[in-house]
Amino acid sequence: MDKNKLEDIVSLCKRRGFIFPGSDVYGGIAGFYDFGPLGVSLKRNIENSWWKFFIEDTDNMFGIDAAIIMNSKVWQASGHVDTFTDPMVECSNCHGRFRADKIDQTKCPTCGKSNTFSEERQFNMMFRTNVGPVDNESSISYLRPETAQGIFTNYKNVVDTIYPDLPFGLAQIGKAFRNEISPRDFIFRVREFEQMEIEYFVNPENWEKEFELWISKIHNWLEALGLDKAKVHELEVEGEDRAHYSKRTVDFEYDFPIGKEELLGLAYRTDFDLKNIERVSGKSMDYLIKGSDKKLVPHVIEPSFGLERAVMAVLSEAYSEDEVNGEKRIFLKLPNNLAPVKICISPLLKNKPELVTQAREVYAKLKKQYSAVIWDDNGNIGKRYRRQDEIGTPYCVVVDFDSLEDNSVTVRNRDDTSQYRIKIENLTDYFSDKF
Ligand code: ATP
Repeated sequence: MDKNKLEDIVSLCKRRGFIFPGSDVYGGIAGFYDFGPLGVSLKRNIENSWWKFFIEDTDNMFGIDAAIIMNSKVWQASGHVDTFTDPMVECSNCHGRFRADKIDQTKCPTCGKSNTFSEERQFNMMFRTNVGPVDNESSISYLRPETAQGIFTNYKNVVDTIYPDLPFGLAQIGKAFRNEISPRDFIFRVREFEQMEIEYFVNPENWEKEFELWISKIHNWLEALGLDKAKVHELEVEGEDRAHYSKRTVDFEYDFPIGKEELLGLAYRTDFDLKNIERVSGKSMDYLIKGSDKKLVPHVIEPSFGLERAVMAVLSEAYSEDEVNGEKRIFLKLPNNLAPVKICISPLLKNKPELVTQAREVYAKLKKQYSAVIWDDNGNIGKRYRRQDEIGTPYCVVVDFDSLEDNSVTVRNRDDTSQYRIKIENLTDYFSDKF
């Protein structure tokens, strides 16, 4: 556990505009965070990488985007109303409430008193709301605690409309809400977060083979995120630790600064969800195997990713410190495709119009090509480099007095701080294989 590293990351995220505590100006609200300009780009780059890897680059995966609030029958049929609970205890001294399976039960973590805990009771983590102007039992619904049910409820719509070959997958990225008893560790355990989920519909005969394929696909994507393979671990979840619907679950854990914790889960959900929908809705969830008269209710393999946990893993992996010219330097060693800013352009001095004019031309050219390019002429060049290092910008381009003579610029590399002279006309070529 490296609490200091987590604090350093939290502080950098706030200082540089990645992630702020939710409702910060009013003193915050536990379990909610807001993403600032750089954080939203990082998060979106991770999302886009996921969507491209798992959906766009494949032949049998399709996206959907379901409403967050659904008919409450969805949550009755899925078992969430009855069983989406965590065990909770209350301290009789300070009245703090805690998740029973996550604390040392001999001593209250808030007031420090011993043997003050109540009996465990089950606490349902769904946020309840009422739909429409009437506040009664029949108007109750819930903010979805997982995106998965939005996919299951659309399975029939998709089969009836585009009728994909089996196996096929439906994917969704969207908000999920859980009223966690003890939100903690920055964006690791929050009450509002984003999930990236796939329900992969298979012929039950093939589930074991498909499950193994998913394990290796997931490893490949985590590698593309730049995560060190040695820090990613598979945990085979045994018997009663598995969710009620799962016959096999592998959690992918990552060595976060807070320790080895779950990054994402892969579960074999059988036909549990589609059968529940059949039972409660009375509609058939059969799939007619093409070219035959055989019908079956497909089984489901579900890779379920938490976007905030992916952001936290990427930040933990990228956060680096070294020493440059005898001074401590902090930099984010982000993979180029995830960096919020790809290139920063500066004139060496902002009060020399000839430098500014040439730098503006370079900026316009690169901005058109790579979009995530920024202009920075604040402070001296050393300060600009430090600022860009901290937000993970892989390259800085500087126009100086020599540029006016030789039409070349200095390109400076974030990771090793090396600098090269490159002709302006060759810049596009230089960056073409980098982004
Ligand atoms: P945990 O055991 O950590 O509570 P879980 O096993 O209940 O997680 P799942 O229901 O499998 O989680 O959800 C799938 C993924 O959604 C998790 O692997 C995680 O990445 C993410 N996730 C779940 N709960 C939270 C949360 N409170 N905050 C942030 N991400 C979450």
